[in-house]
Amino acid sequence: MHSVHSPDSDATMDEMCEAAIDAGLRGICFTEHVDLDPHYYSYGSYDYAETMKDTARCREKYGDRLIIKSGVEITYLTEYADDVRQFLTEHQFDYVLGSIHIIDHVFVGSEEHFIGKTEQEAYEPYWREMIAMMESGLIKRVGHMDYIKNHRPKEYGPFDLKKWEDYIRHILHLVVENGATLEVNTSAIRRGFPEPYPSWDILELYREVGGTQVTIGSDAHKPDDIGQYFADVAKRLDEMGFVVCGEEIFSCRV
Ligand SMILES: [Zn+2]
Repeated sequence: MHSVHSPDSDATMDEMCEAAIDAGLRGICFTEHVDLDPHYYSYGSYDYAETMKDTARCREKYGDRLIIKSGVEITYLTEYADDVRQFLTEHQFDYVLGSIHIIDHVFVGSEEHFIGKTEQEAYEPYWREMIAMMESGLIKRVGHMDYIKNHRPKEYGPFDLKKWEDYIRHILHLVVENGATLEVNTSAIRRGFPEPYPSWDILELYREVGGTQVTIGSDAHKPDDIGQYFADVAKRLDEMGFVVCGEEIFSCRV
């Protein structure tokens, strides 16, 4: 989840902690955005010292009621992989979520990414970046795997997993081989999708290739988003045979 320390949220950490306590959560992790592409609007917005100071203050204030972990959601980009590596070497976190947000300096969660592109042209670079992210060894927690579905143009027709199955299987194999985990992100449901990121059929494939663990996140940017749809999604994950990781995930060096 995010707070005012991310450029796209204006919720204070206090508001987020209080909402998490009200939602009955035992623990949370702030995963503030870190974007290292100088062409992207949020470049340079992350302030490590400020964020850590604020987190420590919240631990003092709410620590008896809520486990508060400190992480980042870092945008992986092959072009800036060295910067990602350097950033992660120089800073300490409980948890590092890696996401593909940008292709050719454009946000993949926007319509702009699809303008003038065939499905092949829009999707292939996204999956390739995700493969590169896993091959880099820098990321062990994969954020919202099929985020690219947000603005899928109608002209493409319904998403056909078969068409992208080789790429998706390849990514999932790398996730399993690297001892990594997928984040199951319920914000897709908030956006009107009937299922989380990634979709249930991708999660079935993940299971098939040996995936056993997931984390669950609401990707909350405001207090009302916190813990949304967790009960239903966690139930289904459990039925599928997944272990939904909680606090134990933070004991691994990520
Ligand atoms: Zn994200």
